[in-house]
Amino acid sequence: MSLSELKLPDYREQSPAVAARFERIRQRQVILSVRNLKKSFGANGSTHVVFDKVSLDIHRREFICVVGASGCGKSTLARIVAGLDEATGGEILLETEVSRIECRGESATGVALADGREISADIILSNADPHRTFLHLLPPSLVPEKLRDRARRIKMNGTGFKINFAISELPDFTALPGRNVGPQHTGGVMITPSLDYMERAWDEAKYGRPSSRPFTHFIIQSATDPSLAPSGHHTISLWGHHFPYRLAAGDLDAERERLAERMTDLIGEYAPNFRGSVLARQVWLPQDIERRYGMTGGQIFHGDLMPDQVLWGRPFIGSGGHHTPVAGVYLCGAGSHPGGDVNGAPGYNAAMAVLADLGQQRGDRVAATSD
Ligand SMILES: Cc1cc2nc3c(=O)[nH]c(=O)nc-3n(C[C@H](O)[C@H](O)[C@H](O)COP(=O)(O)OP(=O)(O)OC[C@H]3O[C@@H](n4cnc5c(N)ncnc54)[C@H](O)[C@@H]3O)c2cc1C
Repeated sequence: MSLSELKLPDYREQSPAVAARFERIRQRQVILSVRNLKKSFGANGSTHVVFDKVSLDIHRREFICVVGASGCGKSTLARIVAGLDEATGGEILLETEVSRIECRGESATGVALADGREISADIILSNADPHRTFLHLLPPSLVPEKLRDRARRIKMNGTGFKINFAISELPDFTALPGRNVGPQHTGGVMITPSLDYMERAWDEAKYGRPSSRPFTHFIIQSATDPSLAPSGHHTISLWGHHFPYRLAAGDLDAERERLAERMTDLIGEYAPNFRGSVLARQVWLPQDIERRYGMTGGQIFHGDLMPDQVLWGRPFIGSGGHHTPVAGVYLCGAGSHPGGDVNGAPGYNAAMAVLADLGQQRGDRVAATSD
């Protein structure tokens, strides 16, 4: 059988079990939408259980979570949790900026919000990147100059960019032709022909020039979930490398447009109908990601994942891992071990560090509250 004969059926036709599972998800209508600023979901009339086999058991008023004016990754998850607060307690403040962490002596006493309010807390977990936490949120007098200097030097050189496309028909790839949904549309598509190609893409960026032939991967979400686009139309989410955070020359807006053109041409080399299908494009450069998500340097992992910035070197050597120089303040985001992506591990580790400092272990709390 040749590759072109391969046809992956619509998921609803794969098996009754798969179809039933997708239907269950669809009925629950977990929709996180509009630039991550709104949450909208229901789960069979209840806002308590939003995913299969996942229920969150949070005790009333046990936490306050402050989420800034942006959000992706786990902060999107925070928005899901936000929908649970009536049923389970706790408090989540959305679109709310923390301007500083308040302390007495060398211990945290709470946070001051940009709108003037203050919240008392003796344990604070900061999900802001370590650059912001060490240099902007913690009181300068409590962070030794040596640590402030190291925080300033954390390598945060975002060079990844994001483009969302709205398209009127599926890419018709020359390697596997077809404009109906097929296996070439439902997996990830990578344009990374060789190591030399990748090396050249980085080479330009390291001198401050946007890569002229970036390497990239993209997914066509609507090929798997048709509800994401109007009938017959599709969405593409593309991630590419490299666009330097600091441009050697040129204007950001002009470069943004040039990049979108180059990426449209690049995909067109593999799917000639692509350019003609593009209805709209949305381009986020590292500078846009920084503005939009509060990620310093547009670095999506809150710090480059380089050998000197992982394990005990994360966020920087001598920083104390999840601890900070202020008692009661912890780092719980991607800038701490083991780093970025939506994996939850830094938060888990930070929670374990807090429990250890409180002389408790995982499970102690549950035992105490279930009495
Ligand atoms: C466009 C894009 C695409 C990505 N794609 C993927 C992917 O496909 N797969 C993957 O695994 N990872 C992906 N990532 C990376 C992933 O999203 C991050 O590594 C992850 O979100 C980090 O999680 P976090 O909770 O530590 O930080 P974040 O998700 O950055 O959350 C930090 C939160 O802190 C808030 N904040 C900052 N300062 C303050 C303040 N002073 N007061 C109040 N709030 C504040 C911010 O607003 C933000 O909401 C992507 C990132 C981006 C930007």
